[in-house]
Amino acid sequence: MRKRWTEQIKGVVRPLLYQLFSSGKDSYSCPLCGYQGPFKDKRISRDPDLVRLDSKCLGCGSAERHRIQHLVLSEVLKDWNPGEKSMLHIAPEFCLQPLLKQQFGTYDTADLFAPNVDFKEDIQKMSFADATYDCVMVSRVLTIPPDLNASISEVRRILKPGGIGIIAETYTHDKNLEYREMRNGRSRQIGLDTLDLLRLQFSQVEHFDSFRYDRKFQLINRMSLKGQPKDDYPDVIRVKGQGFMDLVAVCRV
Ligand SMILES: [Zn+2]
Repeated sequence: MRKRWTEQIKGVVRPLLYQLFSSGKDSYSCPLCGYQGPFKDKRISRDPDLVRLDSKCLGCGSAERHRIQHLVLSEVLKDWNPGEKSMLHIAPEFCLQPLLKQQFGTYDTADLFAPNVDFKEDIQKMSFADATYDCVMVSRVLTIPPDLNASISEVRRILKPGGIGIIAETYTHDKNLEYREMRNGRSRQIGLDTLDLLRLQFSQVEHFDSFRYDRKFQLINRMSLKGQPKDDYPDVIRVKGQGFMDLVAVCRV
């Protein structure tokens, strides 16, 4: 969809103003939209003291996780002829959609609650036939459904032979932290042992982390609590004195 002209102007003026008033901030580069300049700090919860520094691209609104997903996809899809393949994007992120639509022969979206998707689906029990898609992408969804194993099995079930699941999560614990009852619409916090569950379902699970790519893309979740770095995360994702990395699991059928 074409952006309205007022939004196009805002998209140009806002970054210029921000750059003007944020001199001294580091400059970064967005692999999605090509914007170059400072990224915006982002408040991430109701706690005003907890901030993610240099997070949001002023060109397209991408955050760290969108930028790494884009870089991983570009790497994985190279030499895979996506133009002849189909993708299901579950809980689709707006800033990633235009390029995926362009790249894939068939690009479908699904979500249980969000409007403007092609299919209303519960990831624990999807209506698609076995082996429907070549690629399924899921990002920061697995904290929500009560049945984590069923959700992973369903992603695997609807993938074709040779298919790829791209599963991006924030692994802030060593082990999954299951809630007894849903809290704020979530069933758990994701732990690194989710990667073991993925390995039970897929023949190969590779994970791509932020250190794989150039620092100019700003892929570290630089957490600041009351002005101090917050970095109490598992060793695999911890970036000492800064915060944590995103991991994107590339799961092959
Ligand atoms: Zn951007």
